[in-house]
Amino acid sequence: MSTTEPTPQTAWPVDAAAGTPSWPDTGSASPDYGWSRYAWRHLDREQARVLWGELTDWVTWLRARYQLGHTIPPCWYRHGVIVEELTALMAAHHAAYTTGSDGHDPARDDLTAWHRHWLWPLIDRLPALSTTSRCSDTTCAHSPRTPITLDELSEFLATDLDHRPTPQAPQPKPNRHDPPRASAPRLHPVPADSPDAEQPGHPSRDTMFLSSAAMNEYRARGDAVDLLDRDREGHPRVRLDGHLWAYTHATGGWIRQPDDEDSPA
Ligand SMILES: [Zn+2]
Repeated sequence: MSTTEPTPQTAWPVDAAAGTPSWPDTGSASPDYGWSRYAWRHLDREQARVLWGELTDWVTWLRARYQLGHTIPPCWYRHGVIVEELTALMAAHHAAYTTGSDGHDPARDDLTAWHRHWLWPLIDRLPALSTTSRCSDTTCAHSPRTPITLDELSEFLATDLDHRPTPQAPQPKPNRHDPPRASAPRLHPVPADSPDAEQPGHPSRDTMFLSSAAMNEYRARGDAVDLLDRDREGHPRVRLDGHLWAYTHATGGWIRQPDDEDSPA
């Protein structure tokens, strides 16, 4: 079988105990970023213990300080959405009220912004976020349910992946010690049988631009010679195959000078 043929669809196994499909294995490709200490989903037991303590203390203060004992019910910690929202609100409070590591503590508007943009809007929408209407000061009526996902999910994901291109192996970055390329880049391609076709190892006659890497190869081989003088704009110049070339930062490469400047300096 050719390696270019699509691989047959393979559904991910279904967790028989839970009755739900298993998600694609992300393997060892760990993300190159770290999860915040506020990311409940990714906390281990010790990290969660620390955050629970911090959040419980902060919410206790918040409910008393702003008289939110009814809006934030006594059973707030049982409602996942409230825990996530209050954690985010606490993180924003930390950001607004803490100083930098250098202790610099100028007057700023982060504090009023926290109230206006984060605290009161959350308090306004909390009743709609969670089913706390049947919770009381002594009981919690919250009974979280696992949302249903259609059984076809694993087949759907397999089909989606089957229709995507095969991952490409990462291309090695050019090394200045690599052997020179057979051809240098040029603005306009020249047919191979044209008299203007470039000679091996040299730019063709209609080549007007060379990348830094290409020019460095010519300089390393001695084909391009650095000139002491610069052009009218102060750009460094080299001579290559009888032409003057000037480097420009704007292009990041070498521009062949017009013919009227090709006369020897
Ligand atoms: Zn409750």
